Amino acid sequence: GLPGVPVRPIAERRVSRRIQVGPVAVGGGAPVSVQSMTTTRTSDIGATLQQIAELTASGCQIVRVACPTQDDADALPVIARKSQIPVIADIHFQPKYVFAAIEAGCAAVRVNPGNIKQFDDKVKEIAKAAKDHGTPIRIGVNAGSLDRRLLQKYGKATPEALAESALWEASLFEEHDFRDIKISVKHNDPVVMVEAYRQLAAQCDYPLHLGVTEAGPAFQGTIKSAVAFGALLSQGIGDTIRVSLSAPPVEEIKVGIQILQSLGLRERRLEIVSCPSCGRAQVDVYKLAEEVTAGLEGMEVPLRVAVMGCVVNGPGEAREADLGVASGNGKGQIFVKGEVVKTVPESKIVETLIEEAMRIAEQMEKDGASG
Ligand code: SF4
Repeated sequence: GLPGVPVRPIAERRVSRRIQVGPVAVGGGAPVSVQSMTTTRTSDIGATLQQIAELTASGCQIVRVACPTQDDADALPVIARKSQIPVIADIHFQPKYVFAAIEAGCAAVRVNPGNIKQFDDKVKEIAKAAKDHGTPIRIGVNAGSLDRRLLQKYGKATPEALAESALWEASLFEEHDFRDIKISVKHNDPVVMVEAYRQLAAQCDYPLHLGVTEAGPAFQGTIKSAVAFGALLSQGIGDTIRVSLSAPPVEEIKVGIQILQSLGLRERRLEIVSCPSCGRAQVDVYKLAEEVTAGLEGMEVPLRVAVMGCVVNGPGEAREADLGVASGNGKGQIFVKGEVVKTVPESKIVETLIEEAMRIAEQMEKDGASG
């Protein structure tokens, strides 16, 4: 593929130890990865693999599947083998499923050793099995399932309580010389969550999985996650992210990728910049921006495409863009690098932009090949 627009990260990354989730490195300076979780019954192998394929196509790099029953555990070997991206089994309480997931070849297991210690102290055996198979563990502390002892100590799920809980859980594995760990400390309030991760980041070198729990429906969840991840990543904190939305998981991936691109942590591919419109606009800018976005969707072109409502300021405002359109009098001025290259009727704007985008992409590929 084409190289994307070069990245310029918003901050130097926190130094963390590196773990391998299958082929995906997490921490230790590896690019921040984007993950999601399936919503199917894991025991329904076909539906789960179908959803994983959709997630993979949308850019998901790691996928988590829930494993609450024996039927789900039984499905793990096939899912782990057939998935194109590493699969993490998400397990609560039952150590037998942890062993099953490790044996099944899952790339990692999410489990909280505190829960397991409470009922059936198998932490030592889990550490051994995970070490033997080279399987890392995510310790996922959630405000909703905070250890009772810490709830009593702090009264509620404060940042201190979340960070202390995670470090205590990690220490249960460290006792058995197991440090192949990443950690999350999720809360539904971005302010609490950000502070919890800050404290955790200062107190250990484990890679961190960022997430806001129960972030809510798409609009609210997108904003909560963008704000929280932005606050942390702008301080270099965070090695892998999961946006939680009450929406199809593919939407989580789109949002996650956009967050990383916005922070300069990921190459930008196609980016549509459109003017907010104003009293000078001679076209329905919102509609045109939507049509252009739809027309160019799926193009793997590292282009910034500007959609401007008028010809007065359009080209000038969009000089930073590679390609753009400014509308006026039922026509569109198509410009490349701020220079008007042609003028077309409004009905031809989208197809002309696509043609131009492909031409520029071809040129970029040639330049890339010769340079
Ligand atoms: Fe207004 Fe034209 Fe600027 Fe759009 S490009 S905001 S229509 S002046």
